[in-house]
Amino acid sequence: MECSVEALGKDLNNMRKCYSSGITKEASWRDSQLKGLRKFIMEKEEEISKALKHDLGKHQVEAFRDEVGTLMKSINIAIKSLRKWMAGQEAKLPQIALLSSAEIVPEPLGVVLIISSWNFPFGLSLEPLIGAVAAGNAVVLKPSELSPSCSSLLGSVLPTYLDNNGIKVIQGGPMVGEQLLQQRWDKIFFTGSARVGRMVMSAAVENLTPVTLELGGKCPALVDSLSASLDKKVAVKRILVAKYGACAGQACIAIDYVLVEKSFSSELVELMKIWIKEMFGDNPKASNTIARIVNEKHFSRLKSLLTDPKVKESVVSGGSMDIDNLFIEPTILLDPPLDSEIMTEEIFGPLLPIITVEKIEDSIEFINSRPKALAIYAFTKNKTLQRRIVSETSSGSVVFNDAILQYIADTLPFGGVGECGFGKYHGKFSFDNFSNHKAVARRSFYSEFWFRFPPWTLNKLQL
Ligand code: NAD
Repeated sequence: MECSVEALGKDLNNMRKCYSSGITKEASWRDSQLKGLRKFIMEKEEEISKALKHDLGKHQVEAFRDEVGTLMKSINIAIKSLRKWMAGQEAKLPQIALLSSAEIVPEPLGVVLIISSWNFPFGLSLEPLIGAVAAGNAVVLKPSELSPSCSSLLGSVLPTYLDNNGIKVIQGGPMVGEQLLQQRWDKIFFTGSARVGRMVMSAAVENLTPVTLELGGKCPALVDSLSASLDKKVAVKRILVAKYGACAGQACIAIDYVLVEKSFSSELVELMKIWIKEMFGDNPKASNTIARIVNEKHFSRLKSLLTDPKVKESVVSGGSMDIDNLFIEPTILLDPPLDSEIMTEEIFGPLLPIITVEKIEDSIEFINSRPKALAIYAFTKNKTLQRRIVSETSSGSVVFNDAILQYIADTLPFGGVGECGFGKYHGKFSFDNFSNHKAVARRSFYSEFWFRFPPWTLNKLQL
């Protein structure tokens, strides 16, 4: 069932009533909604794949790897862990509180809003929804208008699997988003650009609504001058798949650019060329393995990054574009100017600048002189360098010798720092994100310390 924004005021009142009735707090409701989500994904896997193909040209295997499979894993973990997550956790009180006990009790926040992005339209909508429902909230989800087939599936089919009194999906673009932001929420979970993230925060100020912002940025990958040829091959394959094989680089944690020592850069470029061919064939457009650019606006944005006269001559591989198919070839650039837009803005597409440094350790200073990254990747066996990266840089995550791996780990908090946003989710972190951890303390009526109550006398203290 689709829901219009006009009806939103009334719907929200009903949702508040539904929340106040206590039904969403019941373990059985949470469990049944998670199972409804799982049923939706299992029964509609083919439609999900088709919608991802239609909106983004994603290959079926990519669709399974990044959305269907990952979501099934997350839902199963939530179903299995639900009662454990819901249970209060015992806590200790200071000894001075004689004959007492305490616990931390997670309670839902209330009626929450999730606004999501188009590049992983199911994952970025349903991953937070899993956490919100598991935590016992009533939820309104607004997917992105830029992946219309996916949003339509979420808006018109998903609700048939869920309790629509407690969970609603609203379709629409910025105007609908703005109207939603004018309502009072108990939490807003936003995935998207920093520009809209700022609007979300200003809207949240009105009611002091807590906010999670999952934003973007430029994620660097350091590549040390690896000596073993097997290590080089593994590193190159993992870099390429993290760049071109995940929504064609339109991913917040995609590798944005590579840092490498000057002396290793030519070899790295040559290896990348070989492996681009191995993975995507002589004619990558025909291989149907690489996702398409989401729309003409983003295509033109990427085209202008690449056709900037200052940047053009740094292209060392690829560079062809086909607007009719919204296709951009996997492209490598060597040392484009650091003040060009491709090096100052998030790329969000299949263009990979390689920046050379004298010593790989110089990368740390390079990274620290720029806004904090959502993720830092480093392909190195050098333990000292690994330690330095963890302790001397700041980012949402750090991954050594792989990329994007952190997204599928329910045991790791996923989210940003600095301009990439704040608030963490995935696995139990999602449950916590949508919960208030209430402190509960209990005391016996017996036993008391005399100095707690006035009148106080210094004499007694000096005894
Ligand atoms: P966007 O900010 O344009 O849109 C995101 C969502 O906000 C969409 O649902 C959209 O309809 C809605 N929206 C747009 N204008 C609005 C307004 N005025 N008021 C209310 N809602 C509004 O971003 P996008 O193009 O969907 O996503 C690209 C950005 O998102 C990139 O920077 C990327 O790095 C980031 N991103 C981050 C993550 C993450 O997990 N950190 C994941 C995916 C994308």
